[in-house]
Amino acid sequence: MAVLEQLQAQLKHLDTIDFYRRKFQQASMEIGDINSLEDFSKIPFTNPKEFQAEIQKPPSECSLYTPEVTRVNLSPSGQELYPVYQTNQDLEFMHQVCARSLQAAGVTPQDMVAVTFGYHLFIAGLFYQGQFEYYGSKVIPLGPGESARAVQLINDYQIGVLVSNPTFAMKLAEAGIPSVHTIFVGGEPFTSVQGYPEKVRAAFERDITIIDSYSMALCMPIARSCRHNNGLHIMDEFVYTEVIDPASCEPVPLGEKGELVLTHLRKQASPLLRYRTGDLTVLENKTCACGRELTMPQSVMGRTDDMLKIKGVKFWPSQIATILRSYPQFSPKYRVVVDSLKGVDTLSLLVEGKTGDAVVLDKLSTHLKSETLLKFNEIRITEKIEDGPSVVDNRKGRTF
Ligand SMILES: [Zn+2]
Repeated sequence: MAVLEQLQAQLKHLDTIDFYRRKFQQASMEIGDINSLEDFSKIPFTNPKEFQAEIQKPPSECSLYTPEVTRVNLSPSGQELYPVYQTNQDLEFMHQVCARSLQAAGVTPQDMVAVTFGYHLFIAGLFYQGQFEYYGSKVIPLGPGESARAVQLINDYQIGVLVSNPTFAMKLAEAGIPSVHTIFVGGEPFTSVQGYPEKVRAAFERDITIIDSYSMALCMPIARSCRHNNGLHIMDEFVYTEVIDPASCEPVPLGEKGELVLTHLRKQASPLLRYRTGDLTVLENKTCACGRELTMPQSVMGRTDDMLKIKGVKFWPSQIATILRSYPQFSPKYRVVVDSLKGVDTLSLLVEGKTGDAVVLDKLSTHLKSETLLKFNEIRITEKIEDGPSVVDNRKGRTF
């Protein structure tokens, strides 16, 4: 089914949900009037705050809940937990979509799998458990921690596929897990950190397949890489993606940075419609041998809610932390100060780490320029950055 028809079918379902029907009414829209993707792009966005306000109501009052719900995960947001609802039909479709990506990752039903994500409350453990079971692989729900026991079980059962955050995978690799040929990483920035995939690969001391994913509790899965290592492919039968300029809310062309906006193409409980993720990304059309096209070259690069304009160029300060993670000598902590000198914007950056390495500083300066398209007037390293804001915009007296 073409994407427009899928969206139209899903909109009919959303029209039965009070939360969305109110939005359509406020915008004086009728679902039947959505006859093109351009019409669709006129539907008001959903912002995370209004969605959370609805989803946190008790099930009897929450219009995003349905009586068909069979799984309730809870996901942390700040100090609070909010529910993520799935019906059996939602789980079945999620598993189908994931199974296609497991095949593209080179996993077979004969593989033994170990999942080291948490199963308690949060979504990740059961998410992986369910999709591998659906696919036919044999899965041990290891859960997090207890690395000595994990290593023993991985070796006893000749685990071929490990699902883990990259740090834990490296720890297990150092202890020796020779049967593992594929790892699914998550829970930490990975492909967005330059040099990190190579570091994990080196810890295994052999050629392994590393599959990176991007998702959020409210929408799993969103994107995943395959064994051809061509970036993270959008699961475009599951989710409709748009990338917008976070300030003007206008769409940006493929290849340009912007905020990722998500719409579930088929979801019964807690569906998303034009949901503003606040995540900074780039989408490209790439032909991959696995058959997928729409791709994020790397996982998300930062947050869009911190966007500034420097000399007319869009600048997302949280990208700095992502870049700093590529340098073992620096922490991801930084302070960037924006000033205006005789009407010209200036940028100075303080990073935390080992001081005195001019070569690294030059490399960082070039790296920042290529990623942000901005020249930093000054970059200094300090052993410790005092607690305080990461961004000081003296032009507007704004800090965050
Ligand atoms: Zn692929």
